[in-house]
Amino acid sequence: MTAMRGSGSFGHEVYDDVIVGGGHNGLVAAAYLARAGRAVLVLERLGHTGGAAVSTRPFAGVDARLSRYSYLVSLLPAKIVRDLGLRFAVRRRTVSSYTPTLRGGRPGGLLVGGGQTRTRESFARLTGSDREYESWRAFYGTTGRIARKVFPTLTEPLPTRGALRARVDDDAAWRMLFEEPLGQAVERHFADDLVRGVVLTDGLIGTFADAHDPSLAQNRCFLYHVIGGGTGDWDVPVGGMGALTDALAGAARAAGAEIATGHEVLRIDTDGTAPAEVVFRTALGEGRVVGRSVLVNASPRALAELLGEAPGEPAPEGAQLKVNMLLRRLPRLKDSAVDPREAFGGTFHIAEGYAELARAYAEAAAGELPSVPPSEIYCHSLSDPTILGPEPAEQGYQTLTLFGLHAPARLFGHDNRQAREVLLTATLAQLDQHLAEPLTDCLAFDADGRPCIEAKTPLDLERELRLPGGHIFHGDLSWPYGPEDTEGAGRWGVRTARRNVLLCGAGAVRGGGVSGIPGHNAAMAVLGH
Ligand SMILES: Cc1cc2nc3c(=O)[nH]c(=O)nc-3n(C[C@H](O)[C@H](O)[C@H](O)COP(=O)(O)OP(=O)(O)OC[C@H]3O[C@@H](n4cnc5c(N)ncnc54)[C@H](O)[C@@H]3O)c2cc1C
Repeated sequence: MTAMRGSGSFGHEVYDDVIVGGGHNGLVAAAYLARAGRAVLVLERLGHTGGAAVSTRPFAGVDARLSRYSYLVSLLPAKIVRDLGLRFAVRRRTVSSYTPTLRGGRPGGLLVGGGQTRTRESFARLTGSDREYESWRAFYGTTGRIARKVFPTLTEPLPTRGALRARVDDDAAWRMLFEEPLGQAVERHFADDLVRGVVLTDGLIGTFADAHDPSLAQNRCFLYHVIGGGTGDWDVPVGGMGALTDALAGAARAAGAEIATGHEVLRIDTDGTAPAEVVFRTALGEGRVVGRSVLVNASPRALAELLGEAPGEPAPEGAQLKVNMLLRRLPRLKDSAVDPREAFGGTFHIAEGYAELARAYAEAAAGELPSVPPSEIYCHSLSDPTILGPEPAEQGYQTLTLFGLHAPARLFGHDNRQAREVLLTATLAQLDQHLAEPLTDCLAFDADGRPCIEAKTPLDLERELRLPGGHIFHGDLSWPYGPEDTEGAGRWGVRTARRNVLLCGAGAVRGGGVSGIPGHNAAMAVLGH
């Protein structure tokens, strides 16, 4: 077998660094390493780079480029954009969130954003006083202070727990976020069920847990959702997620990295010290290439397989439904006090009251699809119309992205297609409760006359992207600290059992999300920083 690239061969027989997977993290690592003058090769199994951070035209004959999987950016440090000279920008949303209600059958809702006065008034209208708003400000004042202290550490060598705690320097905040189940803080700070639910959702994105789960998986998820950029803001990637991946691939190539798509890695042969042989498959057959180090952007579970080791337990399990839609127009809301352009411009929470989230979790944990499925939606094209081609833009089309919670992979094993259909219908029915017209009346049609809507279950994501169990973070998120004795790659949270094989993707410590952080950290480990 020879090293080959499509029908030709690679530029080198031996690379300094072979990167398994061209997700956005693999590309970040490739760009840093190539800029340091190293010979770098990225092997990506799919026909394109980006992994879960891509833009596609999913609807036949319709010129709308949707962020098919991930869609908002918070965790990408400005440092990475600067270091790599990326031409990539994000846009702040004017409204952070809108949550419709039907209290006593009367439509209303909670609007967060659009200025302090409007937010305060919205809280007062929903809850009858300023108390919840004041608690909200105090609670997010605390998370904001933690964000400013913790976020910069994510691109530094891994602190120990003690060092991070000393940096946070706030015992009450540390206890609230790092030690006691998130449900306790939510219940202590807030009295209103809807407000509690809105706060809790940040702990449940891509994480199947109850508010009081002793594993604290919900706390770790919450932490990563409130520290991004030192503010916790979730911004719109201009041009969609594909714009980030394209900028990263461009930066890696410009620095001399080779990127070979359509190359699936089958095996990594190494004793951990001698250069590793990486065996891959293309449409033309098998090949192999040698890397002094191997950086793995695939999941830790996939890595175990590539090394011929037993996978760690428990197996990761994703728990979300992702729905992409294109609309002819935004639907009108029952709550006439809010303009749909504001409501859908931020995160629009559906059936995410605190009790509803608890019930959905309990049902799913008992093996049933949630009877009232919680989800959140957002319209990208309101903040960034550049993703629409001239025709859909002229016709006033809008995109809609829905992310459903508490839909674990185990519920789709029997009949994925049917379970997907049932859950999608139930999810849209919850949205319809708050609309003055059914959502389906607003859907655009593709060139074949089919409505522009697609849904992805965890099993779909596993098949398409190799996300283990469909887990969007390759596995439950880790605390952003390490043990006392870390050195070498361990210093950066990217170590594996083989010294010359490092993790550079979401499954590393401080991985998960569109952040580039594990890619950066793996590169720093290789460069000996
Ligand atoms: C539906 C969905 C919505 C999300 N929403 C958001 C969001 O809004 N914001 C956010 O920050 N995060 C979000 N996430 C999470 C985020 O997208 C991921 O955590 C992140 O993209 C992981 O990036 P990565 O580069 O580490 O891995 P991946 O994106 O998983 O890329 C890994 C790459 O490795 C390739 N690969 C795997 N095995 C092999 C092999 N054997 N040989 C060669 N190549 C291989 C894969 O094809 C893939 O391209 C979402 C994820 C999903 C699925």
